[in-house]
Amino acid sequence: MLIVIDGPAGSGKSTVAKKIASNLNIKYLDTGAMYRSITYYFLMNNLDLKSKEIIKSNLKNIEISYINSDICLNGINIVNKIRTNEISNNVGFIANNYDVRMFLVEMQRKMAKTNSFIMDGRDLGTYVFPDTINKFYLTASVDCRAQRRFLENEEKGLGGTLEEIKKEIEYRDYNDQNREIGPLKIAEDAIIIDTDNLNINEVVKIIIEKIK
Ligand code: C5P
Repeated sequence: MLIVIDGPAGSGKSTVAKKIASNLNIKYLDTGAMYRSITYYFLMNNLDLKSKEIIKSNLKNIEISYINSDICLNGINIVNKIRTNEISNNVGFIANNYDVRMFLVEMQRKMAKTNSFIMDGRDLGTYVFPDTINKFYLTASVDCRAQRRFLENEEKGLGGTLEEIKKEIEYRDYNDQNREIGPLKIAEDAIIIDTDNLNINEVVKIIIEKIK
């Protein structure tokens, strides 16, 4: 079984996907974490993530793996290091890069062959798995998404004002919707769920009912 959920930042994809994974006893893959981990690698090593050549030549040094569904970069669990504002503000350079996308898309397709998965991302229903039938697109207004991220960041002690978070989300929306390869788009056959006035459990329920 493969279920994919696409949508913009803060639309609730990952929280919903995690709940469905435990509900249906299948694995969860956060594809955004993959792009964030590669961004982390370049920032940590002070490498220029605006240079296509540097990105291409360094990809062979990057190995992504999982320990109990925690993402690891070259064997080190970095799950608590990839949600910072610095990563969010730089992940666009990595997500727009052709070689990175090919590298990660291949990995995602390979993983989907090994197990039943629910994955969340931006281009899963349109580009990575166009043939899957369980396709969802979560959306919500930018104000609502910014408010959710703000509360999440406060909980995690990540900081950022509501205004800053809203700007970051708008910037990422623009970048995600306008890149050449794998842009954020609604797949023609996706079920669209507007989460502005729904809580997490309501969204989970809608998705599980549709799948059944
Ligand atoms: O989902 P999350 O906000 O953690 O994703 C971080 C970034 O990774 C997104 O803003 C997007 O640029 C990129 N991404 C992507 N394709 C995916 C998942 C995430 O380009 N399938």
